[in-house]
Amino acid sequence: MTKSDWLEVCGKGLADRGTTNFSALEVCDVGRRSGGAVLSAPPVELLENAYKLINVLEWLRAEDGTASVLVNSWYRDSEYNAAIGGVANSMHKTCAAADVVKVGRTPSEVADMLESHPYAGLFGIGRYKTFTHIDVRGYVVLDRPSPARWGSNG
Ligand SMILES: [Zn+2]
Repeated sequence: MTKSDWLEVCGKGLADRGTTNFSALEVCDVGRRSGGAVLSAPPVELLENAYKLINVLEWLRAEDGTASVLVNSWYRDSEYNAAIGGVANSMHKTCAAADVVKVGRTPSEVADMLESHPYAGLFGIGRYKTFTHIDVRGYVVLDRPSPARWGSNG
């Protein structure tokens, strides 16, 4: 799928859901390069996973004062994921994971906010020094136990 096809397909999906705070290029920055890999668009059926994650990101955005949630990395295809050193079974490959920061909040505070979500028991939350990993592994049909927690912000 070309970048313009992705913008059309994902853009329409987001618009149909009334999503205005997250864009198709945040879900997948088609064509982004790293280590010789070029990021491809995800299979369209994975968009359902992205929409489930968006519900959580919208909640995070609105929590404790509405401040933007910025996405560092969301979908990764296998080749791109390997090129950047992602784990082989990364949730990013399912479109159900994103590495985020929230304006005005530390990664530790963001992780704590996510822990307070009513469905946190279905989440994977990774604490990193400069960002927070969030995935909705328990919402999607995957052979993945939830919750999952790893890392520290220190
Ligand atoms: Zn991640």
